[in-house]
Amino acid sequence: MNTFQAPKGTYDLLPPRSATFLAVREAIAAPLRDSGYGYVETPGFENVELFARGVGESTDIVTKEMYAFETKGGDKLALRPEGTASVLRAALEANLHRQGNLPVKLWYSGSYYRYEQPQAGRYRHFSQVGAEAIGAEDPALDAELIILADQAYRSLGLREFRILLNSLGDKECRPVYREALQNFLRDLDLDDDTRRRIEINPLRVLDDKRDAVQKQLGGAPMLRDYLCDACKAYHEQVRELLTAAGVAFEDDEKLVRGLDYYTRTTFEFVHGGLGSQSAVGGGGRYDGLSEMIGGPALPSVGWALGVDRTVLALEAEGVELDIPAATSVYAVPLGDEARRVLFGIVTDLRKAGVAADFSYGGKGLKGAMKNANRSGARYAIVAGERDLADGVVQLKDMESGEQEPVPVAEVLTRLRALLG
Ligand code: AMP
Repeated sequence: MNTFQAPKGTYDLLPPRSATFLAVREAIAAPLRDSGYGYVETPGFENVELFARGVGESTDIVTKEMYAFETKGGDKLALRPEGTASVLRAALEANLHRQGNLPVKLWYSGSYYRYEQPQAGRYRHFSQVGAEAIGAEDPALDAELIILADQAYRSLGLREFRILLNSLGDKECRPVYREALQNFLRDLDLDDDTRRRIEINPLRVLDDKRDAVQKQLGGAPMLRDYLCDACKAYHEQVRELLTAAGVAFEDDEKLVRGLDYYTRTTFEFVHGGLGSQSAVGGGGRYDGLSEMIGGPALPSVGWALGVDRTVLALEAEGVELDIPAATSVYAVPLGDEARRVLFGIVTDLRKAGVAADFSYGGKGLKGAMKNANRSGARYAIVAGERDLADGVVQLKDMESGEQEPVPVAEVLTRLRALLG
């Protein structure tokens, strides 16, 4: 094994591409912060029970993909495979839902872990930004979250994504549908695994990608025909609000999603440029989750957008984010005295809020200027013994190539003025 190799299914974020990841996280977070969502951070692992009960014991995420382990102290933990269960757990633990300001609106950003078969767009360690609105049943809240995700993607310049929308019904109508679907599925020619799935989570069978299964699903009962009046009316309001907001969506009756906790509204953001892993983000309403993990009834809705796949989608569309150079001024000292003086100037520039870097390692002029170029700095300040004897440093405009002497005492004010 090569010791410099990241574990299978993982990769490192390195400059310059890592700047895109930061920008994507920021672009997704900004509309949330502006809409009353507060930042929440939870541990990277939880008691395994939380995910088993929350995400669902019939899901691939829990049965096959979870990094579950026992600690030396005997605690059974799992690396978090998703964010919603943890965020809800944290809100319940802190009694945020009892402070008289429902819905509790939270956003988060972090690493998630699933033991999946790695492929393009599917990793064992990936990154999501998510949002949860806890404790209110209001179609405007479902619509708000979809609109904010749409706004985030658009602000990044992403265009070729689609929004798929469905309703999964609630605890009144879904069980009736579930039974009808089970009766239909039990008569089909299916393998043992799929037969087991019929009993545990029949909706997932509709999601089966295999042709042999899909071919038999033609006459399957559709949830749409079983939705109760309340669910229908709720869904219609979500659709109307989205339409009024100018957010285009497609009704997709087959959208069931891979987690057990969803009720009513479910949605997915898909992108055509990603091959088989087309979902860049998804979410929905999870009115029963709080009770599933032992809390009070707290109807809620949320989503998680995948940062990795959003970056891939941007690359697929050829969108280059406008990421400003990290460094504005690069200092190139020639000789010991210049090192001392320029290092002082760099420190002062930084204190004044000007992004500045320094040529370390006693490089010669040529090598140092190469680094200055690479840093993207707009200005370089260069000084040798003769300059200092004259009380100046050379200020070089890296765009025009022009250079002029500036008195040492004036460099700071001059650069601040130039950089606005
Ligand atoms: P999910 O909770 O499965 O709906 O995931 C929400 C989003 O997280 C997806 O739309 C993806 O963008 C991202 N995601 C989920 N699993 C992975 C993975 N294994 N690798 C990369 N991104 C993922």
